[in-house]
Amino acid sequence: MAVNRQEKLRQILARLEKAYGRPSLLTGDEPLLDQLLFLVLQEGVGREAADKSLQSLRKEFVDWNEVRVSSIPEIRAAMKMPDAETAEQKARAIRGVLAKLFADKNKITLAFLKEMDSERALRFLAGLTGVNPWIAATIFILLMPEPKFDANPSLQRLVRRAVFTDRGMTPKRISEALDEMFAGKDLPRIYNLLVHHAETICLVNPPNCPECEISDLCPSNRSAKRAKATS
Ligand code: SF4
Repeated sequence: MAVNRQEKLRQILARLEKAYGRPSLLTGDEPLLDQLLFLVLQEGVGREAADKSLQSLRKEFVDWNEVRVSSIPEIRAAMKMPDAETAEQKARAIRGVLAKLFADKNKITLAFLKEMDSERALRFLAGLTGVNPWIAATIFILLMPEPKFDANPSLQRLVRRAVFTDRGMTPKRISEALDEMFAGKDLPRIYNLLVHHAETICLVNPPNCPECEISDLCPSNRSAKRAKATS
């Protein structure tokens, strides 16, 4: 049974990756803030443009504080985005993150998140401009000394509907089963994809089953259930 679930999750992740693109992180021991800014840049445009834009920002500005005090046209000009509108939007998001950090913490770093409990850390991340729930969840995983699945409500909702449908599966048991399947491997990527899908399609009520990329794999697909009931 566990093998079937694992196989199904792999199929789901492959579909979601095709739909949303492959989420990637900066390699090496990069600061958390750089990881976050990279994910904000990457959202909707892919790794290549995000990589080039991040490198260009690092080259054109002395540090992130200089980006914070620069104008939107200056930041936009350093972007390597596919079009001017995206560059403008990303410039505003990047400066928004930096401005909020400075306003709230008087410093340009995310190191303080390590001292916060998980709920407060996630809330702080989700309050940053351009940081959607799946970016916040990905950074949250990077904060863990030993990454593990947890009770993230969006992720739990999706996997409970699509994979762990037995009544007895508590959030704790689901997390343990996921940890066993993936053994800590690739957690930020898996989190990013599952939370993205849960927050945009597999909503609390109602889930958008007709638009769902994995509806044929999901036993909770409401459209299929309705069609069956009326046939
Ligand atoms: S088919 Fe519906 S319930 Fe299943 S994962 Fe998709 S949106 Fe969620």
